[in-house]
Amino acid sequence: MPHDILNVIPDTTPPMPEPKVKSKITIAHVFKTIIWPRKNLLFVGLLLIVISRLSSLVLPYASKSLVDDVITKGDLRMLKLLVVGVVASIALQAVTSYLLTQLLSVEAQRLISVLRAQVQKQLLRLPIRFFDNNKSGALVSRVMNDVEGVRNLVGTGLVQLVGGLFTAVIALYFLIKISPLMTLYVLVPVLVFGFIALKAFAYIRPIFRERSKLNAEVTGRLTETLAGVRVIKGFNAEAQEIRTFEDGVTRLFQNVRKSLTSTSLVTSSATLLLGLASTGIMGIGGWMIIKGEMTLGDFLSFTLFLGFMIAPIVQMSNIGSQLTEAFAGLDRTEELMNMAPEDDGTVRTIEAKRIEGDIIFNNVSFAYEAGKPVLNDISFHAPAGSVTALVGTSGSGKTTIAGLAASFISPDSGTITVDGLDLSRVSLNSYRSQLGVVLQDDFLFEGTIRQNILFPRPQASEEALQSAVRAAYVQEFTDRFENGLDTVIGERGVKLSGGQRQRIAIARAILADPRVLILDEATSNLDTESETFIQQSLRSLMQGRTTFVIAHRLSTIRQADQILVVEHGAIAERGRHEELIAKKGRYFELYTYQARI
Ligand code: ADP
Ligand code: MG
Repeated sequence: MPHDILNVIPDTTPPMPEPKVKSKITIAHVFKTIIWPRKNLLFVGLLLIVISRLSSLVLPYASKSLVDDVITKGDLRMLKLLVVGVVASIALQAVTSYLLTQLLSVEAQRLISVLRAQVQKQLLRLPIRFFDNNKSGALVSRVMNDVEGVRNLVGTGLVQLVGGLFTAVIALYFLIKISPLMTLYVLVPVLVFGFIALKAFAYIRPIFRERSKLNAEVTGRLTETLAGVRVIKGFNAEAQEIRTFEDGVTRLFQNVRKSLTSTSLVTSSATLLLGLASTGIMGIGGWMIIKGEMTLGDFLSFTLFLGFMIAPIVQMSNIGSQLTEAFAGLDRTEELMNMAPEDDGTVRTIEAKRIEGDIIFNNVSFAYEAGKPVLNDISFHAPAGSVTALVGTSGSGKTTIAGLAASFISPDSGTITVDGLDLSRVSLNSYRSQLGVVLQDDFLFEGTIRQNILFPRPQASEEALQSAVRAAYVQEFTDRFENGLDTVIGERGVKLSGGQRQRIAIARAILADPRVLILDEATSNLDTESETFIQQSLRSLMQGRTTFVIAHRLSTIRQADQILVVEHGAIAERGRHEELIAKKGRYFELYTYQARI
């Protein structure tokens, strides 16, 4: 094909707009959109924390009066007052903590469900290449586990952190008021402990990050094992799978053990240092009481307040590791949320309304990995409504060309235009809604045959569905099923034959009614009988649509408007079937080779 044909349609792409500042989805953004709108509830929560903690401080405060006023002076009226006050404060505490748990647990659950939905949405915005490089199970773990940690942050974590801090500060105030000297003595080990705890958490944060990675790996491996169970059993490779998995969970265990060492260090140093603090004051307090510098009630009150200051600190060291874990999960979630989507709306600004499907590849080169070119300088014109067949040995680059036409990947150099519009500037939503794909091992979702065919157009009419079912010869086999189209097929369609799956995929494409159609080895699964059924339906499917067909069976492509013979990422020959046969070149070789078998 002469190259000047490529210039038949002028490039009508509008000029590139000024680049906008790229908007990033960060956790800050997530907090702003999910948490901030419900700030009123959070404030109510904080208020409840304050009330509940204040009421808990009534007891130590009252104990001073109990000793110094009631017991020493025998004031019975005061005793009644004290008991009523303490009981009331405990009741208040119970009510507030009930409300608080209700409120925050529900809010935390709501948060993670919204966050999970956002992470899944973001995943689907990422380019195909991302999925080539990441195990699906690992991604499942990201959506489900990494987000889970955030729940602790908002739920129990927030209550304990804010409540604990609040109580500690109030208790400290009373401690200083009762005895600055004893407070000073207590503060030293407390501060030492705080320092140790901070160091320990800084140390375990990367361990937790590593853990969510390991978790993702193990989940990923398990998902693959389950998906490939036929191959594993078929090659009797269970032992190997078991070893790999065992290795994964062992590394996970070692990671947990590493962090447990430092968390138990924190816990035991808490026991030691805080124990020192509280027993030491026995000495100082006793001495001060003997010298008449402190009342018995003050001493009792001090001991109780000290408990109130120390308890939240010990508690915080426990939730510290929870929070560290939550932050590690957040880190990884944020990392995912910050990845550039394939269409962020800033570059792909052209809305391709109804396209004719006139596609031109202009000197397109592409490599999956730098330095390993897969396609070199590919140029061809696929006029609207024509059928272009890609033939060539396996690994020559046919699927890559189809992937470029689907905009799953973009050229490293050169351009692809659709109706004269630069495809790299066309909104993916507008283009892909006019695209249909039928692949070799086509993906069927768990559900009924009907649901799978309706997948691209769930609202399609029964008539449209029936005509697609007839055209793709799906009826030929569903008629024999007890439930017909409503037969439930297993995950990935495992309960159907390859040819049956393929026909469902073709019906799906017919129903989708795309302008551009990609058939990648779509007929390779068919037995000779199904193939004759399918050839006719494929012809009606391809009618009037720009079609790229990749097929093992050269009989499928005899009718193509043009045949491109792909070799080592370049087009070696092009033309119609008869021309290429007459030429006795590479195509002729491929054709006669296949005719022989
Ligand atoms: P064909 O469809 O003609 O069999 P492909 O287009 O699938 O060939 O592959 C062309 C070349 O690109 C092969 O060498 C293959 O190994 C490589 N390749 C295909 N997909 C990827 C990928 N996702 N990452 C890296 N290399 C790839
Ligand atoms: Mg291929």
